[in-house]
Amino acid sequence: MANLKDVHGYVDSHADDFIQRLSEAVAIPSVSTDPSRRGDVHRMALWLENQLKRYGVQTRAVPLGQQEVEGKILEYPPAILGRIGDDSKKKTILIYGHFDVQPAEKSDGWDTEPFELHVDRESGKMFGRGSTDDKGPVLGWLNVLEAHHALRIELPVNLRFCFEGLEEDGSQGLDDLIVTETSKGPQGWFHGVDCVCISDNYWLNTRTPCLTYGLRGIAYYQIIVSGPGSDLHSGMGGAVYEPMTTLISLMGKLVSVEGRILIPGVYDGISVADSSELQKYQDLDYSVADLEKVAGGPISLSDDKATVLMGRTREPSLSLHGIEGAYSGAGGKTVIPATVSGKFSLRLVPPQTPDDITKKVVSFIEDEFAKLKTKLKMKVEFVGGGKPWVADTNHWSYEAAKRATETVWGKTPNYTREGGSIPVTLTFADNLGVNVLLLPMGRADDGAHSTNEKLDISNFLNGVCSSLLSNLSSFTQNDRAPQTKLLGTYLYEVANINSDK
Ligand SMILES: [Zn+2]
Repeated sequence: MANLKDVHGYVDSHADDFIQRLSEAVAIPSVSTDPSRRGDVHRMALWLENQLKRYGVQTRAVPLGQQEVEGKILEYPPAILGRIGDDSKKKTILIYGHFDVQPAEKSDGWDTEPFELHVDRESGKMFGRGSTDDKGPVLGWLNVLEAHHALRIELPVNLRFCFEGLEEDGSQGLDDLIVTETSKGPQGWFHGVDCVCISDNYWLNTRTPCLTYGLRGIAYYQIIVSGPGSDLHSGMGGAVYEPMTTLISLMGKLVSVEGRILIPGVYDGISVADSSELQKYQDLDYSVADLEKVAGGPISLSDDKATVLMGRTREPSLSLHGIEGAYSGAGGKTVIPATVSGKFSLRLVPPQTPDDITKKVVSFIEDEFAKLKTKLKMKVEFVGGGKPWVADTNHWSYEAAKRATETVWGKTPNYTREGGSIPVTLTFADNLGVNVLLLPMGRADDGAHSTNEKLDISNFLNGVCSSLLSNLSSFTQNDRAPQTKLLGTYLYEVANINSDK
């Protein structure tokens, strides 16, 4: 793979340029959930489209419609589609990523300005909103494109891109776009795609790269309890049924403190792990200490790592999130809230679906409410959800990613399932009918969505070759390696595997 070596060399010698480009991207505060930042999300879309064009990628900015916010019409940011290469002898890979970010203010507790990339050469970390979620990974692909363009090396595969600017706001319009393009048949943008690769999740720890083959689904609910005409003075306490007391009683029946879901039928159909599957979990480079490090406290449900990992990724869970309408300010307030709404959600695994689970959740809560015999009103609402997903790891795309990880990092990847959800994964898998690979760039401690979000420079681009080591000699000594290289190497391994056959 002579070309690959040149590509790696290019990455090494352009480390600073690549970091500079990431600072440019982070400096655009493309917060999709904040209407006042909508202009910035559009600016980010344009920026990305121009970058792609520079490297010979044919692009299309697809409008995704409008929304009304406080009487004003706001355009959704467009999805940026791209395509490069049309060689029928090569495999075609669809890359997904998103260029919007979560909100961030310095006053939230950031040590540095969230929209100025802070490069800490000593620790080898780059802090900034979007550094790891998901601008870093998206720019990893730009780096790969740039290297091939500059060196005039043809890519080993055909690439298609689908980048969106509304991921943090529920991916409005994206499912429709994918369905529409798929229904166009040979004229559709995604026609001929052989597999999908997404870099938008994280390693299990801070040491070992991973390939992710499963995601839990989600089903989100609220229980609304009402009765009084308005908030009451607690001097009325002892004379009336209180919504808050009833709500807490209901919420207390959903899950045990050990995390066991108490709703009948919820576990139906979920297979029991056999010994070979159990062994897979035991073999992962992971420990209960890793979990507790990410959790920020010694609070794991079990001392057995397989149990903990399966609990997080292979089993369903139910979490209570909050209560709206209740007093939450400082000090005491002697109020009986008139209407309260309790929020909770379940993370789902196959064969659970939001539809099936909703029936069980609603009927259980209604039964339990009836047993309380209060004179209050109660309603359970399904707020939203998505199905779980599991991929076949024997597919050549996973094999290519495994080989690439071994080449670049010198390690066999952890094969993981994720506790969270990336709904677009399932949309691609269902509509395109192809294998989807999640190839995470960041580490478990990156703090996506949190304050001081970071990406390790090594994860972004470093390599193990000597030119790099001398260039970046001040970086930390522990695993210096290259995600940009990993992405590039993955493409070459895809081509290799498929020419073997
Ligand atoms: Zn993301």
